[in-house]
Amino acid sequence: MPGLDKYEYHKLLNRAVEALPKEIIVRERFQMPKGVLFHEGNTTILKNMAEIASKLNRDADQIFTYLLKELGTAGEIEGERAVFQGKIPINRIQERIEKYVKRYVLCRECGRPDTKLIKKNRTLMLKCEACGAIHPVAGKIKRD
Ligand SMILES: [Zn+2]
Repeated sequence: MPGLDKYEYHKLLNRAVEALPKEIIVRERFQMPKGVLFHEGNTTILKNMAEIASKLNRDADQIFTYLLKELGTAGEIEGERAVFQGKIPINRIQERIEKYVKRYVLCRECGRPDTKLIKKNRTLMLKCEACGAIHPVAGKIKRD
């Protein structure tokens, strides 16, 4: 920005952010989806599978397949919920959901969830609609 030093620019930016209505800021901030999880007999239920999928703008099947592979178990989707075989510790499933989000949903440049999975030369890529960045999904993820 010509004629504006970095400090002034940041000051203006802060003022602009402060001027935004609060609900816009809240809506724009990404919130990690929380699984509603419990044990039922010898299975583990993810009650809000469909809700998580729609929040992430991904197929429930795709997320579920990932979770099954990560957890090394079998299961099936029953309507809105997902059923895993065995009593799996609740936090293990939540951890895998978050891992999925970091790998397949969040842009590694800007951290936004407005992304799409695309295939390029047979490689699965994550394309960010917010900043335009494209990364291979199999690429390294920054540890947090
Ligand atoms: Zn981005």
